[in-house]
Amino acid sequence: MQFRDLKAQYRALKPQIEKAVKTVLDDCNFIMGHQVKELEEKLAEYVGVKHCITCANGTDALSLPLMAWDIKAGDAVFVPDFTFFATAEVVSLRGAAPVFVDIDADTFNIDPVKLEAAIIKTIKEGRLKPRAIIPVDLFGLPADYPEIEKIAAKYGLLILEDGAQGFGGMMNGKRACSFGHAATTSFFPAKPLGCYGDGGAIFTNDDELANIINSLKIHGKGEDKYDNVRIGLNSRLDTLQAAILMVKLDAFISHELEDVNRVYQYYNSRLKGIVEVPLIPDGFYSSFAQYTIKLKNKEQRDGLQSWLKEHGIPSMIYYKTPMHRQTAFWYLDSDDRDFEVTNKLCDTVLSLPMHPYLSEEDVERVCGAIKTFVNR
Ligand SMILES: *Cc1c(COP(=O)(O)O)cnc(C)c1O
Repeated sequence: MQFRDLKAQYRALKPQIEKAVKTVLDDCNFIMGHQVKELEEKLAEYVGVKHCITCANGTDALSLPLMAWDIKAGDAVFVPDFTFFATAEVVSLRGAAPVFVDIDADTFNIDPVKLEAAIIKTIKEGRLKPRAIIPVDLFGLPADYPEIEKIAAKYGLLILEDGAQGFGGMMNGKRACSFGHAATTSFFPAKPLGCYGDGGAIFTNDDELANIINSLKIHGKGEDKYDNVRIGLNSRLDTLQAAILMVKLDAFISHELEDVNRVYQYYNSRLKGIVEVPLIPDGFYSSFAQYTIKLKNKEQRDGLQSWLKEHGIPSMIYYKTPMHRQTAFWYLDSDDRDFEVTNKLCDTVLSLPMHPYLSEEDVERVCGAIKTFVNR
């Protein structure tokens, strides 16, 4: 059994993917081929925003809007404490300070009440200027945008949605990657919509921001890439990846997203009452980048992971370390007592195999092993 079975997906899509790749090889238009523009149009339409700008990876996708907004030293950017490192890394890379915020135990997403408290505290201290919030759609579930938007408006902050794990998710009929002033995603192979290498994208309805990002991602180009009007990056999506993504996007839209939601039902119906299962609030829809359960304590979690391994079942711990305890962020001197929920979750979460090609029999096997372990 695979944790995320990319081979099964490749087997299912092989003829179309190989045809798409061959077209790029025949044309040798490896950089900025027409497939890149076509993909951007399809993605923008699916997400329901005006502009999609592809780039080299999900981390650059976060950096580019921060660069365009001139987020810099002396600025504070609010980031959930429970996320992948890149969400906060890009803030420090700009010279600004990430301010970590504890999360909601049920949704794994940034806690709006604690977010406002962190903003007020930052203003009172007066050392940093609050500029932006980067909510993360963790494990595929959109963050609480109605509340976050109210807070952002109240304090005049920008919102950058980190939808690296959230592509395809929804809230009240609105797609993930359409929230905030700008949103981003990642096409790392294991994400809900993955390519065959690195890739990423930025989404926005803001024409001016889209123009600046289109320049920044190609060495701050003006008229062309030999006319440089600002300091930028080299961050393009390869034509090969764009061609592959167009095939994968069709499969994602036509059945994969529904398939992972079916797998979620298979799991939840078997595991409810045995362990704590993921909760999808009313009006929300997840793209299930991960299916993550909660155990009683670290001993039970680690015990279950070993047990599953003995039975040939892969599992992962997302995440073992809260952002504020990462060695690279010691310099921020965060107060460990502010992160009660994240600290506990890092000891008790376990992510189970999850992908659109996972069969009900496989889910049955995983759940059988979990039941035997918990009832021992
Ligand atoms: C994967 C991920 C990123 C970074 O994406 P890359 O394409 O690997 O650079 C950023 N934020 C979150 C929450 C992620 O899961």
